[in-house]
Amino acid sequence: MIKVELARRLKELPPYLFAQIDRMKEEALARGADLIDLSIGDPDLPTPGHIVQAMKQAVERPENHRYPSYQGMPRFREAVARWYKRRFGVSLDAATEVLSLIGSKEGIGHISLAFAQEGDVVLYCSPGYPVYSIGALFAGARPVALPLRQERHFFPDLEAVPQELARRAKLLFLNYPNNPTAQTATLEFFQQVVAFAERHNVIVCHDAAYSELYFDEQRPLSFLQTPGGKGVGVEFHSLSKTYNMTGWRVGFCVGNAQVVAGLGRIKTNLDSGVFQAIQEAAIAALETPEESLASLRRTYQERRDVLLQGLAQSPLRAFRPKATFYVWARCPEGWDSTGLVQHLLKEAAVLATPGVGFGPEGEGYVRFALCAPKERIKEAAERIQRALR
Ligand SMILES: *Cc1c(COP(=O)(O)O)cnc(C)c1O
Repeated sequence: MIKVELARRLKELPPYLFAQIDRMKEEALARGADLIDLSIGDPDLPTPGHIVQAMKQAVERPENHRYPSYQGMPRFREAVARWYKRRFGVSLDAATEVLSLIGSKEGIGHISLAFAQEGDVVLYCSPGYPVYSIGALFAGARPVALPLRQERHFFPDLEAVPQELARRAKLLFLNYPNNPTAQTATLEFFQQVVAFAERHNVIVCHDAAYSELYFDEQRPLSFLQTPGGKGVGVEFHSLSKTYNMTGWRVGFCVGNAQVVAGLGRIKTNLDSGVFQAIQEAAIAALETPEESLASLRRTYQERRDVLLQGLAQSPLRAFRPKATFYVWARCPEGWDSTGLVQHLLKEAAVLATPGVGFGPEGEGYVRFALCAPKERIKEAAERIQRALR
């Protein structure tokens, strides 16, 4: 029998904040509660049929059974470049400015390995997706949180970053449309980001996983639409949320050729690319007719409106999202996020995510995911009203 000991990088990870909630969820399910789970950002709807069909055909072809290319098939990278041009008006060189990813999480988690090390700082926003800071920790760098505060409309204050930190910063992670606050970026903000990056020689990593899940016809911007954007950074995209493909594991990184190449070198040494049949399916996904996406957006918009109407009659103060499938809401006076989530689970059998799970700056808020049918979301809101009366 050997003594198994974890490496320091695992031992020193921040504690897993959802463990207690997970336990309570299991208890609720075990006692047969009619649980409405709005805690997980994982689409409940199936992948559209034309994408599944493309996969079925591609999986039959033996040439797709071999190792794929590291960067992605040329046809996939060209499809990404076409989609970018069509959607954002941004030109990309498919050969050097596009890289396939095994889901965008994979690229986000690995990019720090390419550009940051001991003694370096990686800036990320909090509350936020946990992978930015964990990737930095795994690379031996020091993650430093920039708070996203309500007073600043959930944008980081780049002017407030101390000179000493800015000097040592190698990467800056941003995410708009934002998970969990659902804020969308403005061109002015992105221009400030480009200026900051140029001033301090920092690589910008913009996570745009929710760029296509928008409401009220307000299409979110790509960071690469900002003048100078491609000079300072890259953008991460995911097919997961847009096409209900979380289980397929495919995404891409685009932008600055040197940054794309650096991430590519890490990947070449760690993985062997995306299964080609999945890349074929992803090409079909990127060619999805606009009407089918508009219909998906309408579905989320109806769910959003039902939840906002219901929460308006509760003491929770929800922000009206312009994009993503999340609703971020301020806890009523006297509640912290974990206490409120536990209360709602116990009294209403509704599960939300405590804001503190996205970083200490998320304390005082909860997040609802719109990944359940409209009727269930309506029911959840009614139960929340009763539980907080
Ligand atoms: C879901 C999510 C991702 C990861 O998506 P993949 O499935 O790995 O492509 C990345 N960033 C944010 C903010 C997310 O919410």
